[in-house]
Amino acid sequence: MQTRRNLLKSTTGLALAAGTLSLLPSTVLAKAPIIGRQAAGYYRLKLGNYEITALSDGTVALPMAKIYEGIEEKDAETYLAGYFQKNPTETSVNAFLVNTGERLVLIDAGTGNLMGPSLGKLVSNIEAAGYRASEIDDVILTHIHADHSGGLSINGKPVFENAMLHVNEREERFWLKADAKAKADAGLGPQIAQAEAAVGPYIAAGRFKTFGDNAAPIPGFASVLRAGHTPGHSAIIVESKGETIVFWGDIAHGDVLQYDRPEVTVEFDVDQKQAAATRAVAFAEAADRKYLVAGAHHAFPGIGHVRRDETNYDWVPLLYSANY
Ligand SMILES: [Zn+2]
Repeated sequence: MQTRRNLLKSTTGLALAAGTLSLLPSTVLAKAPIIGRQAAGYYRLKLGNYEITALSDGTVALPMAKIYEGIEEKDAETYLAGYFQKNPTETSVNAFLVNTGERLVLIDAGTGNLMGPSLGKLVSNIEAAGYRASEIDDVILTHIHADHSGGLSINGKPVFENAMLHVNEREERFWLKADAKAKADAGLGPQIAQAEAAVGPYIAAGRFKTFGDNAAPIPGFASVLRAGHTPGHSAIIVESKGETIVFWGDIAHGDVLQYDRPEVTVEFDVDQKQAAATRAVAFAEAADRKYLVAGAHHAFPGIGHVRRDETNYDWVPLLYSANY
């Protein structure tokens, strides 16, 4: 009978016979330094004639079980644990670059220096992907929250110095034309100040445009108002050669719990009820139409499909492809 010991012996015999034993010690004992940092965060795919690059701004551990509203924290924690997600939960912040061949268009702009060193990596990942921030022609925001607009400006200067910034006009009204009462609000006030600091330099430079509900921010890029998370929260829709991708911003936070429980909201939703209703519509449409979806807070690269299952919906991440 072939025992493990015999097998080892015979393997050693074979190695000896082949004269390779002398190679073993260096192979077995070789040491390499622990690198201790993640690889560059970008991932490319083709959409018709266009090239899309998902860009990571980083990840941050957030107490999602606590942040979810409409579910007990304990229940949310148990649910996430069932998907091997810890509490706090590692949460991606993604942005996306679309190269139409004529224009470079960035959708959302990351956190900049507002949310700590595990984030704020957007520009370095733009560079790792082969572009410079100054090459970007347009930046379209899904909404003006800090994790989507914080990376627009550093020290009062536009990071995307040659870009035109596009935002839904309801976002402008809510964040940039807020009244004294809103500015004095303990929750909203600091967010309004952040929005002004991020967007202000583009307004000052004459590089700021608003778009109406469901209007095209720029030719070839459509939008649909998906309000609730913020008043002008908009999904951006890009099509090429019959293929469609929808950059849907913060329709979902994470990629498991809200797919089974779309009525669960997050504490950052400006209008909880509307956010839940909007998510129901967005999920149903994505499942029906089977288009690609890109999410700002789905595990990087955050691109996949939505399908129905016996517990409402499922997020199905795109298969990795080394060739496209
Ligand atoms: Zn967000």
